[in-house]
Amino acid sequence: MPRYLLPATLFILLLTQCASPPSTDSAPADAPKRPNILFIMSDDHAQRAISAYTDELIETPNLDRIADGGMLFRNSFVTNSICAPSRAAILTGKYSHINGKIDNLSPFDPDQWTFPEALHEAGYRTSLIGKHHLQAVPQGFDEFRGLIGQGEYWQPTFVHNGDTLPEESGYTTTIITDYVLEELKRNAAGDQPFLMLYWHKAPHRNWMPDTADLPGLLDKRYPEPATLRDDYAGRPRAAHADMRIADMFTSTDLKVSGDYQNPDPGTGGATFITDPEWDNITNFNYLMGRLSPEVRAAYAPFLEEVGKQWLEVKGTDRELGWRYQRYMQDYLASVKSVDDNVGRVLDYLDASGLAENTIVIYTSDQGFYLGEHGWYDKRFMYEESQRTPLMIRYPPLIEAGSAAEELVLNIDLAPTLLELAGSQVPADLQGRSLVPILRGETPEDWRDAVYYRYYQQMNSYHRVARHEGVRDERYKLIHFTEPGYEGYELYDLQEDPTEMENRIDDQALAAEQERLMKELAAQREKLGVVD
Ligand code: CA
Repeated sequence: MPRYLLPATLFILLLTQCASPPSTDSAPADAPKRPNILFIMSDDHAQRAISAYTDELIETPNLDRIADGGMLFRNSFVTNSICAPSRAAILTGKYSHINGKIDNLSPFDPDQWTFPEALHEAGYRTSLIGKHHLQAVPQGFDEFRGLIGQGEYWQPTFVHNGDTLPEESGYTTTIITDYVLEELKRNAAGDQPFLMLYWHKAPHRNWMPDTADLPGLLDKRYPEPATLRDDYAGRPRAAHADMRIADMFTSTDLKVSGDYQNPDPGTGGATFITDPEWDNITNFNYLMGRLSPEVRAAYAPFLEEVGKQWLEVKGTDRELGWRYQRYMQDYLASVKSVDDNVGRVLDYLDASGLAENTIVIYTSDQGFYLGEHGWYDKRFMYEESQRTPLMIRYPPLIEAGSAAEELVLNIDLAPTLLELAGSQVPADLQGRSLVPILRGETPEDWRDAVYYRYYQQMNSYHRVARHEGVRDERYKLIHFTEPGYEGYELYDLQEDPTEMENRIDDQALAAEQERLMKELAAQREKLGVVD
């Protein structure tokens, strides 16, 4: 049986008896202590690269501590699989068409409601450290230390409470964690509950490992996914996408320096840029040039070996396999560093005694392709990028080592955290609190399908056609709406979990198709989608 101290309703009852916002000065001595919240998010972290989900690629012992001590969500999804829109959805508890952040280019209105600002108003000390990626300076934070834009793996530059600081020396994953530990210690010394958003840049492209993880890295080998050599039969939108490992930048992505190639033969997902002067070797030289002399020296033998390997495989039938291994080596090394650093923070929670009353969340802003369909990147409503990892630990409420099968969304986190903090959940949030599920109960009327929509278009990075769709426990219907690329796709995820066979207009699935068409229309209506 799951253990918990107080039902949330009783929690709210007790809190509303206090002055608003409640403080330790005015709260009755026997009032429940509101939980602290440590919200850890990485960028582009696929479920398949966390051993709590599967250990086929990597062991992540520290991330697994969160699942082992709490709940693993096996069916967690995003509403729009791309960085900044996903962050906006998480912060607002609303879909992109409501919060306005539909793609990486559209502005985010900083004046709208967000859950951190609500918790700040409710008396929480609030911090955001790491990658934020919404252009506007966020409101409602006592402490904000954010990377500029996408951020860099090395020598990061932070904006601290509105001031742009000088570039720092070192590895960004570690530096973000150092600041998080500093801020956690400051929080522990105060008398407010805290909300800490600890948001990594890693393992976002271009996957630059820490120097400590370079020795032996090129000897590592990973199993190829069965769909690495996908021919996209029956899926013309997938065929048009520019996100194949075969076309990655060999320089910035795979680390083949200009000493071994020039120009870079890759498209890197940027075929829509038609600048004849463009050459990514310049980009790579810039990235390496800004490293400290020590880091550059540590990378030198690695770059030399990568270059030699490239000369051996380029143009041969071994090239794609080599590219995949090279991609996995750097991606998974970036994940390893996240795991190591999350371990430092979990150790601190244990040692300080904060662990018992701190909700720990681990998630990503979306999933990612690790060679499935021959791809890297995200965007599509196919499983690998519609899914996102989610694990939540909170000992008073959640049974250790439990798992949830319910369909949950990134927009569910805002109402969940508000309820756990004893705050009112605004009626206009489109996500739904996960608290009953965390307690081990599935509400009778829990959703049986999720709606998805991707907005960026073919004339943008990676050339993924605009689409929307619905996914239930077994089937998925995708509607591509972009002119010139219109069409539907239908998948039976039980029979075809890797989504290789588009069953649209297959008479055997006629009833399912009709049901899902109606579900898509009903979801659009319910969620206020008007275009
Ligand atoms: Ca991302």
